[in-house]
Amino acid sequence: PDLFRPERANSKGFDLRDRPEAATLDVAREAFRTHVWTAAPLLACDAPAGETTEMRSPSDPSDLVGHVTWASAETVTAAVEAAQPWDADAATRKTVLNRAADLYESHFGEIFALLHREAGKTPLDAVAELREAVDFLRYYGARAEGAPPRGTFACISPWNFPLAIFTGQIAAALAAGNAVLAKPAEQTPLIAHRAVELLHEAGVTRDALQLLPGAGDVGAALTSTPGVDGVAFTGSTETARLIHRAMADHLDPGAPLIAETGGLNAMIVDSTALPEQAVQAIVESAFQSAGQRCSALRCLYVQEDIAEDFLKMLQGAMDALVIGAPWDFDCDLGPVIDAEAKSGIMAHVAQAQSDGRVLRTYPTPDHGHYVAPTLIRVGGIADLQREIFGPVLHVATFKARDIDRVIDAINDTGYGLTFGLQTRIDDRVQHVTERIHAGNLYVNRNQIGAIVGSQPFGGEGLSGTGPKAGGPLYVDRFRRHDAPTTST
Ligand code: GLU
Repeated sequence: PDLFRPERANSKGFDLRDRPEAATLDVAREAFRTHVWTAAPLLACDAPAGETTEMRSPSDPSDLVGHVTWASAETVTAAVEAAQPWDADAATRKTVLNRAADLYESHFGEIFALLHREAGKTPLDAVAELREAVDFLRYYGARAEGAPPRGTFACISPWNFPLAIFTGQIAAALAAGNAVLAKPAEQTPLIAHRAVELLHEAGVTRDALQLLPGAGDVGAALTSTPGVDGVAFTGSTETARLIHRAMADHLDPGAPLIAETGGLNAMIVDSTALPEQAVQAIVESAFQSAGQRCSALRCLYVQEDIAEDFLKMLQGAMDALVIGAPWDFDCDLGPVIDAEAKSGIMAHVAQAQSDGRVLRTYPTPDHGHYVAPTLIRVGGIADLQREIFGPVLHVATFKARDIDRVIDAINDTGYGLTFGLQTRIDDRVQHVTERIHAGNLYVNRNQIGAIVGSQPFGGEGLSGTGPKAGGPLYVDRFRRHDAPTTST
């Protein structure tokens, strides 16, 4: 019966295949097609801010999306001082977070326009992202009751989910009653700014939620300013290490780091898999969001016996992908986030090309930061030196008798985020899933798009600290569990 409590209900989102619904969405976002937003620090005090720069769309550099005034290290010092834990009881916090969810939903036109234009998100990605952000607000809001807050949390979020992950960290910290200092990724401050405005409008007080748009210097200041009582971070494993070190040097020893980091995610397809289902799952897992999800599939293992035909079919499905403007409803692949991301990915592809290992790639639009979906042959996952954060899929083949070696190789990467398995053998499902080290295991389906409340998301090893986002334990990590106990 608990399943039907209101807080278990996920956002309905949009069905883009439903024409009237898609038309409603189209009209609402059109009003923001050429809108120019502005973003600046949102603070509970007066403080000096830094420079102002233009934000341009990753899909089209001639599209001016907005202007952002950055926070500086001095802004951080002032904001930490001004931060006050949220002075509202648990029931009020829940009500306010639900109200924010409603506001996000009612601003869907503007949010879609921002997701397309600032972050290069396709309509399908934008639907998923808005829905997840709303789910986080309601799900964590429903868990507001509990032990006291820790104090002040720094929330440092990535550009690949500029609304959902940005909101998720904040919502969890606020649900527990903390003050939040939110630093969005430097690539996506405009949508973050709009989100914080909506949270304030819903009733979160300004001293409980401040926004600090900035680059690495702001992140570094946030994670090393005494007065910060914990850090929530989603981003690369390397940055998580730097944050951990800074926290150890400057913050109280008890300040927790809640980190969700990278992955080198694999999928195994054996000879009993349903090819059509597996191909669709692979295309979605590797190329949706232009491969810019930490859950994305990076290394595919196909059983040798079926590899030739299977890889032909996979390439046929890749041929059908539409690369283009993220605003278009039929766009499957938008750009990657910026020029630096593109050149890093292209260097990897160029190396593979010179080694003769590229099985498939395509031309891309010549403006904007586009990378074509690309398939590269490798000997195994150990050949991937690092996470390539884009639409590049690596494929290896394996012999049935070597499946345990494949599992060992996947585990040996040290990452453990998502894993996919395509098979119709029940014993194999059990055998493989018992041995694989991964936070989220997906069998006979895609391996992206975890749903708040039903698929808590997070990894092990180099992939993160836990607790999983969108799961029942997450908000508790933002609370104090050392309240005094009295014995008589
Ligand atoms: N939760 C997302 C998913 O399941 C991935 C989050 C991320 O990329 O950080 O696809």
